[in-house]
Amino acid sequence: KWNEILNTVKSEYDISDVSFDTWLRPLEPYGIMDNTLYILVPSEPMALGYISKKYHLPLKTIIAEATGTVFEVKFILPEQASQINPASKVAKPIKNNVSIESSNLNPNYTFDTFVVGNNNRFAQSASLAVAESPGEAYNPLYIYGGPGLGKTHLMHSIGHFILEKNPTTKVLYVTSEEFTNEVIESIRNGNASSMTKFRDKYRKVDVLMIDDIQFIIGKESTQEEFFHTFNALQTQGKQIILTSDKPPKEMETLEERIRSRFEWGLMADIGTPDYETRMAILRKKATNDNFNINDEILNFIANNIKSNVRELEGALNKLLAYNNLVHEEITMDIAQKELQNIITPDKPKEITPQLIIEIVAEHFQISLDQMISKSRSSDIAKPRQIAMYLCKNMTDIPLDTIGSLLGGRDHSTIIHGIKKITEEYDSNENIRNTIETIKKKINPN
Ligand code: ADP
Ligand code: MG
Repeated sequence: KWNEILNTVKSEYDISDVSFDTWLRPLEPYGIMDNTLYILVPSEPMALGYISKKYHLPLKTIIAEATGTVFEVKFILPEQASQINPASKVAKPIKNNVSIESSNLNPNYTFDTFVVGNNNRFAQSASLAVAESPGEAYNPLYIYGGPGLGKTHLMHSIGHFILEKNPTTKVLYVTSEEFTNEVIESIRNGNASSMTKFRDKYRKVDVLMIDDIQFIIGKESTQEEFFHTFNALQTQGKQIILTSDKPPKEMETLEERIRSRFEWGLMADIGTPDYETRMAILRKKATNDNFNINDEILNFIANNIKSNVRELEGALNKLLAYNNLVHEEITMDIAQKELQNIITPDKPKEITPQLIIEIVAEHFQISLDQMISKSRSSDIAKPRQIAMYLCKNMTDIPLDTIGSLLGGRDHSTIIHGIKKITEEYDSNENIRNTIETIKKKINPN
């Protein structure tokens, strides 16, 4: 994760190799305290002043994008480190946290940051019970509910909780899409060793979490492999946690033997948050981000966005971004103006290019700024091309409009991008799976 952040800084800010090796590569995240991320500068003391002048803002920006949290960033020398850590227990060294890194967990998704309300109380306590006694309380735990209601957040919280208590536990989090792609991969390689590798990975864990399991519907070999993985883990008393957008009984086209296994343990649903919960989520997030915003505005957001916590947060983030840019207190007029596109009362979502671009960005966990940026690094260029392809296939807007929405790219760039993805769609099963998954996120019906 840290390396990814550094690499993103490098590509977004066009930093040359030598500057990168000299200044950025040696940096190490030391710990977080009071919303400040301390970064160790192990090179000479003189570098510290220069680095903080030149790279403070780039790092702060990319860290905020990568983590979803606006951390203050401070640089320290190794000899200063001791002054920071012991005084306060809040400091959590993120170095050495190998187990968390290898389990793919988002550090912000913990029980501490999860607001409990009537809509999710049952799911939250079920999750906590599983976290306290993995493999023993409820197996599998099946969490379901609509998009943006906190399923992934709860799932990661369980992982963090288990790892904190027992850092050697093998916790593995994957999306259903990643799982599918690995099944495809090991089948394509077609040899025994690639299958063994797959099985070693999934059957030797203590806790397996598969997010958005509904996407295995219609994928026979994935279902087959999932079935055997499930059985292998279940017999060893290992914990399985699944999320889905619907309860098992509504997954009509799913193989019966799999559907019934989903129902073996405990099923917990998450509903839409009530007003108090929406306000509590907004207040908590504003506090975490050190965002001074008055209740009247939070109230306005809570009254207008009711069915999706991600959108609730998105609205607050939009105002926070405005505030960071303009340094002006958010008034009701500003809020109404800034949020008018987000607040569309209870209309079914129209498939617009904007929606497609947002969903693609979210799927690949990159920011909208990166989508429209000049960056050509493949982790950004590929999602961008997929967005072009989907805009072409799911809407009928002209190519030039797609180009201008994606950072003012010209006609031929768009044609090239669409052509490339079209070819890959036909020749590469992984890409096809990824695109079909995203399509279902854009249009669930
Ligand atoms: P889902 O997986 O159900 O689509 P996520 O878990 O990704 O939803 O949640 C979407 C966003 O909303 C995340 O940023 C998450 O942290 C936030 N969120 C959802 N529910 C809560 C909650 N009860 N308290 C705090 N944040 C929440
Ligand atoms: Mg999710």
